[in-house]
Amino acid sequence: MDHGSKIECKRDPEVNVAFDAVIVGSGFAGMYMLHRLRGLGFSARVYEAGGGVGGTWYWNRYPGARCDITSMQYSYSFSEELDQEWSWSEKYSPQPEILDYANHVADRFDLRSDIRFDTRVTAATFDEDAKHWSIETDQGDVVSAQFCIMAVGCLSSANLPPFEDIEKFEGLLYHTGEWPHEGVDLTGLRVGVIGTGSSAIQSIPVMAQQAKTLTVFQRTPNYAVPARNEKLDPEFERETKAGYPELREKMRARPTGFYFDFNIQPALEATAEEREKKYEEAWARGGLPFLGAFGDLLFEKDANDTIAEFGRKKIRDVVKDPATADLLCPVDVFGCKRLCVDSGYFETYNLPHVSLVDISKKPIERLTEQGIVTDGIEYPVDVIVCATGFAAMTGSFDNILITGRSGLTLTEKWQAGPRTYLGLSSQGFPNLFMITGPGSPSVLASMIQAIEQHVDWMADCMGHMRDISAQTIEPLVEYEDNWVDHVNEVSKVSLRSTCSSWYVGANVPGRPRVFMPYIGGFPIYVDKCNDVMTNGFEGFVLDGEKSNAAPRVRLTEKWRVPVDVDIISPAMIAARRVPVV
Ligand code: FAD
Ligand code: NAP
Repeated sequence: MDHGSKIECKRDPEVNVAFDAVIVGSGFAGMYMLHRLRGLGFSARVYEAGGGVGGTWYWNRYPGARCDITSMQYSYSFSEELDQEWSWSEKYSPQPEILDYANHVADRFDLRSDIRFDTRVTAATFDEDAKHWSIETDQGDVVSAQFCIMAVGCLSSANLPPFEDIEKFEGLLYHTGEWPHEGVDLTGLRVGVIGTGSSAIQSIPVMAQQAKTLTVFQRTPNYAVPARNEKLDPEFERETKAGYPELREKMRARPTGFYFDFNIQPALEATAEEREKKYEEAWARGGLPFLGAFGDLLFEKDANDTIAEFGRKKIRDVVKDPATADLLCPVDVFGCKRLCVDSGYFETYNLPHVSLVDISKKPIERLTEQGIVTDGIEYPVDVIVCATGFAAMTGSFDNILITGRSGLTLTEKWQAGPRTYLGLSSQGFPNLFMITGPGSPSVLASMIQAIEQHVDWMADCMGHMRDISAQTIEPLVEYEDNWVDHVNEVSKVSLRSTCSSWYVGANVPGRPRVFMPYIGGFPIYVDKCNDVMTNGFEGFVLDGEKSNAAPRVRLTEKWRVPVDVDIISPAMIAARRVPVV
């Protein structure tokens, strides 16, 4: 959406100030980066476009927003004290509680003094002579830093489709990812929701409780598994906390970076009755672990067909109107797009004031003063909720004019798709780090795990550079090219590469179609990062030199966790077959 309007600055701009590092963003990534750099004695400034910490959980305040990885796992692991003192109220905590947690972390580790809020970084330019970055913000700040660290988030650039005549609509129009802080009272209003991804699926049942009528405009139906959310049982919490370090280790050893019961058996080796039983059991437990009912569901189409049919049957069991049920049944690969986790989504369509409009063949034509037009029919609404997702993975990079060596901008370099070495950095952009950048497991792992591993690697790297008085680090182009090929190659093993998801940039017209996250599995990836570091930053040049001193590894070793051999996936096998170079 429009970020152009300048927020009135309540502080003096920072001009001609030099830092060791500037961090862009204060979500979970930026906060932990700041904490680590401070611990190493580096000076750092964080600029954050929002008015507070928390990133995703600061912006996505739509009704029903909550995590889809259990809260006991979707949290930082770097502080045993933090793990022990914080208490989650629900299995999947709601957005306000996750935001409280982020604020608690900011207070507990005294982070705020180094963060400048309501400040959007607009440009970052590498000065080849001074070997530092010059960073500009919309508040007039112009500062320099040896390192520029992008903690801008994978799902932080809201995608508001340019619907024709959007400006003519006289009602209220919101995007789920930029929801008003004061909340929206939908009581007695006619609400139109565009989109049926995770944000829509979480918010529709809650909004339907208030709205006078709720009309959902669906381009592609989605599978959803019941969350089975519940209050956190104090005994379960006590037991989990007693074994927290062991749980965190088990999480790191998993391809997805979080731990759940997983059945490695191939689906087609089971009989139809056995499969049905397994699916029913997994359905009863609920949540993303449903995909762990069998080991090959995301790799073998025939196996996937069985779970897809089960998912469709569940929709038909719930939705009473057969025509609506048909429209809600996806036909593509189960779990190809990020699997949605719901609480009463399909049941909502049985309510008399809720209706579904199929826009798969006839898209939204335009908005009018009073509503939404598709297939020549005007649907009058008072409020439009765009649950239309994000320019994922690269959108927030594109919003900043990032200029590297020889005047090349990152957007130019990434025109045909993002190019990075390990998702950590990109050739031509020395000392520019990306936390959970494209080409790293990022959104295919539990993200706080992925964030912590990247931050620890970067902090180790920066500490090492200080030890040897190196000014710059930059990937070698052949290593970067090989990594990009490798990411692409491994993605083909998975059925996830086959559909038009935001993983491949297909949700926003005009974006290049490239599978962006690394699907080889979190522990395999972590191993590669560790090896690169212990081999003297293999594939990087420091100060333009290829021979690198052996680093004193500080924290990254905690990530050297044996892979959970019981659940090695075809993607992990493929990832091991294809070396980094
Ligand atoms: P973000 O939280 O996105 O933070 C990035 C920050 O950078 C933002 O605050 C943004 O304002 C700021 N920023 C961006 N550009 C600029 C700029 N130019 N100048 C200044 N500031 C800038 N992941 C999971 O693993 N499990 C979940 O259950 C889960 N649920 C999710 C639910 C929703 C609704 C969404 C949208 C995402 C969810 N995710 C989940 C992914 C989630 O984004 C990550 O888990 C995590 O919060 C990302 O943290 P981050 O710090 O990397 O990025
Ligand atoms: P999304 O998954 O990209 O869904 C966007 C929806 O909007 C899709 O249904 C899409 O249809 C539709 N859409 C986009 N442009 C459209 C247009 N021009 N006309 C009509 N429909 C249009 O976005 P999201 O729901 O915000 O979720 C994004 C990601 O954030 C998730 O996949 C997940 O990783 C994370 N998230 C997690 C949770 C959670 O459960 N914790 C909640 C929300 C978000 P098409 O499918 O046809 O493109």
